Amino acid sequence: MGERIGIYPGTFDPVTLGHTDIISRAQKVVDKLVIAVAGNDGKGPLFPMTERVALLEEDIAPLRTNGHATIEIVSFDKLLVNFVTDVGASVIVRGLRAVSDFEYEFQMAAMNARMQPDVETIFLMASDRYQFISSRFVKEIARLDGDISHFVSPAVAAHLKQHFGT
Ligand code: ADP
Repeated sequence: MGERIGIYPGTFDPVTLGHTDIISRAQKVVDKLVIAVAGNDGKGPLFPMTERVALLEEDIAPLRTNGHATIEIVSFDKLLVNFVTDVGASVIVRGLRAVSDFEYEFQMAAMNARMQPDVETIFLMASDRYQFISSRFVKEIARLDGDISHFVSPAVAAHLKQHFGT
């Protein structure tokens, strides 16, 4: 069997400790992990693509040398199942947090499976220290000058502080 390629798609606006935890777990399941940063999903990301990718690059740098799967970070702007075929991935990795994620993730996985039966979606859980973290709340806390040091890396915290002028 050839190299098993997994794709971890998301908005990463910005990357949190929850994301990096999922990335390090996914690295143990595949040979190569493609982190696919979604360009335009209608949610209107706070940070432009270049900044989201740069922050990811910085945060996952230590994971590049841990002996597990190689990591590639790419941006994409098309339907995920089509992009999955482009990169030759056989696995889509998603993180599951609370029950609230389930309905959306379940529907998306089922529809992707219908469109692309050869690709499996797998769900990973972050460590309980990180499970509750969401980019959305991190941005809200940062905007209101709260302490986000438990949720994101120092680089991301600095970037948010600079953005909000807090
Ligand atoms: P999307 O817009 O695709 O939801 P996100 O960047 O918010 O993009 O999330 C990407 C993936 O990472 C999703 O599968 C999401 O459930 C997962 N994820 C985000 N934060 C966490 C976390 N703290 N623990 C586990 N999974 C997470």
